Amino acid sequence: MLERTQFLGAESAALIDCGGRVLARDIVAPAQLPAFPSSAVDGYAVQAADAGKALRVAGESAAGRPFDRPLARGTAVRILTGGVLPAGADCVVMMEDVQLNGDVVTVPGALKPGQNFHAPGADLRAGERVLPAGVQLGAAEIGLAAALGLAELPVGRRPRVALMSTGDELVEVGERPGQGQIPDSNRWALLAALREAGAEVRLLGIGPDEPEALRRLVVDALAGADVLVTSGGVSVGTHDLIKPLLESLGDVHIGRVKLKPGKPFTFATLPDQKVAFGLPGFPVSSLVTFEVFVRPALRKMQGHAQLQRPTLPVRLGYDARATADRTEYQRVTLRRDGSDLVAVSTGSQSSSRLMSLAGAHALVRIPPGDHGISEGTFVEAMVLALP
Ligand code: AMP
Ligand code: MG
Repeated sequence: MLERTQFLGAESAALIDCGGRVLARDIVAPAQLPAFPSSAVDGYAVQAADAGKALRVAGESAAGRPFDRPLARGTAVRILTGGVLPAGADCVVMMEDVQLNGDVVTVPGALKPGQNFHAPGADLRAGERVLPAGVQLGAAEIGLAAALGLAELPVGRRPRVALMSTGDELVEVGERPGQGQIPDSNRWALLAALREAGAEVRLLGIGPDEPEALRRLVVDALAGADVLVTSGGVSVGTHDLIKPLLESLGDVHIGRVKLKPGKPFTFATLPDQKVAFGLPGFPVSSLVTFEVFVRPALRKMQGHAQLQRPTLPVRLGYDARATADRTEYQRVTLRRDGSDLVAVSTGSQSSSRLMSLAGAHALVRIPPGDHGISEGTFVEAMVLALP
């Protein structure tokens, strides 16, 4: 699937829109930081050679209002945090360490050149690579770009995803379900998951279990989308229409996976480099297959360096049963026990039971087999959130 999904290209985004996006090119510092020698404290700018002397206060250097002359020998300049160190000064004495008498300040007997100010270039040098392509832009990265005076950053385009639920049993959330009907909960779960993964989502609502109407809805939606995500309609019941629809529109590469939950997961490529993910209808199956397959693909489209969730070795806190022919992703919470992380089952792992995923910290991977894995064994966990 990753081989069949492409980077969607770079665009320029203003800082106000950069949160959570992926940097598309390395950022090299256009200038050094700090740009000038900047006081780290409130105090007096002096020459270290004047240690122990009484010095006349010649003026002030406040943040944004520098002292306009060089420091003369035998004088001091009052300086505030962020103020420019005057030429000729080589250190700052803290306010707390001096004695002030009118406009004469007596400084301590031992002073070190360089103390209490940030030298130009101490934080970073001009030309230094400060952010590599492929990182996700968070608070610190955006702050760094802003500190360097960069108002826009090159970022990967967000995938445009058309999201559709299918099933005649579904009603809008908030409507009262009739006999045999249920709220369309997958739409909202998948919308949240898609947004977290960086996608721009267009909601198509509920597609009917009727081939022609479903086809029209999908064909219309694909015009403005890079990706189609559907839920439901991929198992082998007579009303499962997604696979034949995708087969008629493009190429279905995967129509079933040896995974629990999520066996009927479907992946297709469509004309114009579009891709489609047919997720199973069961709520846990749709979210687990989203995590395992869709999220990495969406991250690749945006140019992320890190496609997968981090994994950690965790100690099983329960006897895990295995499925003979399918890898299982069991939902767990994690707790600390000394230096180990212990995985605690979230209870019944039924694919319809969203309570098994709500509040889960990780998915532990149980390989197929007849025997399962006993409590105390270390297994790999895909971490969703740390406790
Ligand atoms: P399907 O894959 O269409 O056979 O659906 C499998 C199960 O998931 C059925 O019990 C459906 O009612 C349920 N289901 C399908 N779509 C949704 C949805 N959007 N929200 C909640 N449950 C769903
Ligand atoms: Mg269905």
